[in-house]
Amino acid sequence: SKTSTQQIRSDFLEFFRSKGHTIVPSAPLVPGNDPTLLFTNSGMVQFKDVFLGAEKRSYVRAADVQRCLRAGGKHNDLDSVGYTARHHTFFEMLGNWSFGDYFKKEAIEWAWELLTGVWKLPAERLLVTVYHTDDEAYALWHDLIGIPPERIVRIGDNKGAPYASDNFWQMADTGPCGPCTEIFYDHGAHIAGGPPGSPDEDGDRFIEIWNLVFMQFDRQADGTLVPLPAPCVDTGMGLERLAAILQHVHTNYEIDLFQALIAKAAELTGTADTENKSLRVIADHIRACAFLIVDGVLPSNEGRGYVLRRIIRRALRHGWMLGVRQPFFHKMVATLSALMGDAYPELPAAQALVVRALQAEEERFAETLDSGMRIFDEVAARAGAAGTIPGADAFRLYDTYGFPVDLTADIARERGLSVDMAGFEAAMEQQRETARAAGKFAGGATLPADLVAQLSPTGFLGYDHLDAGGLQVVA
Ligand code: ATP
Ligand code: MG
Ligand code: MG
Ligand code: MG
Repeated sequence: SKTSTQQIRSDFLEFFRSKGHTIVPSAPLVPGNDPTLLFTNSGMVQFKDVFLGAEKRSYVRAADVQRCLRAGGKHNDLDSVGYTARHHTFFEMLGNWSFGDYFKKEAIEWAWELLTGVWKLPAERLLVTVYHTDDEAYALWHDLIGIPPERIVRIGDNKGAPYASDNFWQMADTGPCGPCTEIFYDHGAHIAGGPPGSPDEDGDRFIEIWNLVFMQFDRQADGTLVPLPAPCVDTGMGLERLAAILQHVHTNYEIDLFQALIAKAAELTGTADTENKSLRVIADHIRACAFLIVDGVLPSNEGRGYVLRRIIRRALRHGWMLGVRQPFFHKMVATLSALMGDAYPELPAAQALVVRALQAEEERFAETLDSGMRIFDEVAARAGAAGTIPGADAFRLYDTYGFPVDLTADIARERGLSVDMAGFEAAMEQQRETARAAGKFAGGATLPADLVAQLSPTGFLGYDHLDAGGLQVVA
């Protein structure tokens, strides 16, 4: 249809092609050569060195659809999944860039033209924010575009402000950054939440759709801002959030792509209520897990591999909550591949491997999930209403039952409980000491040797070695 996610991707690229942009492919979720970053968390990551002036491209304008992951590092939305209408672990970011070419005026004009001219979003539903000192951006919105002052909000770097919005965008603690202007869509007064810059902005009424960053600095480790060789533009728009608007639904989970994933999850888990939160989490997590494996990460106990393992186990626990006692998660892959394979041919190409890696992890966790949940119930009963799970119990769930501590915390949160994280860390440290004294090294992945062999020729293991500290192979 005219508003399918597939159509939106191509409309976006076509629009920026017509404005002289070169269309580039999505980079993998694992950044090629950047130890400061766990995952590609936005479209600009693959252009970092171009902003810094360390790399030249044959073009000065680019656009793409970038697969992103926000499940670790500076940008981490894992704990929002299932709780907000708009956050995923894995999502797709539509982006356009200027490398020392056009700047604020064109960036703002074209964003507005695409949203209100091509996609026909009603202007009166749109609000914008600008960095508090950016009078130039304010004037462009006000004088050039004609947005009334009551729908232009000035926002600072949020230090001390009673809201979380931040109009100074940074990729990570160091690296390219700059002031930004953001476009929000008002889903209507029947939904809770205030406008950006208000104390209740975190609701889902005013949803941020597009961030236009005016890249001007390289943040150093000591915090100082060094000007970039030339001012650049870096924009990012969430495909799923835009699709929700164009498909006249409120949450990302109601769009075409997610409805198809949720339908499959409902079938596999025998769940009738398609608004069930667990189905939404499973639909979110299959994308993150499948694409992480496509991009060379395998479940392990450290680094990126452990992020993957944690997301898989969260999904499996949601399946368990729906009453599933057999491996099911890997059966989502074929559906996902059919839905996203056109946009990302890497996925169908690696499909068999993704299925196998997920199935192996499902079988491994199945051995302890059931008894771990029983232990959790006992511990929770002892903790009482609004109580705290002791660190030692969280550690036992981790060590004996393979419950990553964030999984335990997530289950606890659902029941109004908390986890003694300091106590957990202390127990963890004690185990490390014991292991060191015994000359063993703690952690490390255990993967079937043939699976590792299957991966090696493609160079996949290289990524994992980056911060996983080596992969242990069991024959
Ligand atoms: P929010 O304030 O809603 O958490 P953000 O300010 O963290 O979003 P940016 O870093 O500005 O997001 O990223 C650019 C765009 O990417 C956002 O405007 C939004 O459309 C989209 N986006 C960001 N995080 C997510 C996510 N977790 N899931 C889906 N889309 C996202
Ligand atoms: Mg965010
Ligand atoms: Mg924001
Ligand atoms: Mg933002």
